[in-house]
Amino acid sequence: MAKSPTLIDQLRAWWLRVTCPTEFLCDNCRYDYDSACKRPQRPNAVKCPDYRPK
Ligand code: SF4
Repeated sequence: MAKSPTLIDQLRAWWLRVTCPTEFLCDNCRYDYDSACKRPQRPNAVKCPDYRPK
């Protein structure tokens, strides 16, 4: 059975919807360049703890 999202998960999803108008977080992230981000999910991250809007 799938676990229902916690309040924190729901708040995070809401925050991402509000702050990221693009499909992938990286397209709207201030760290979307080589020397700033070495994460393997770049440039197509849909979840990222380091995401910061531009
Ligand atoms: S920090 Fe996360 S969201 Fe930002 S560019 Fe890197 S992988 Fe993408």
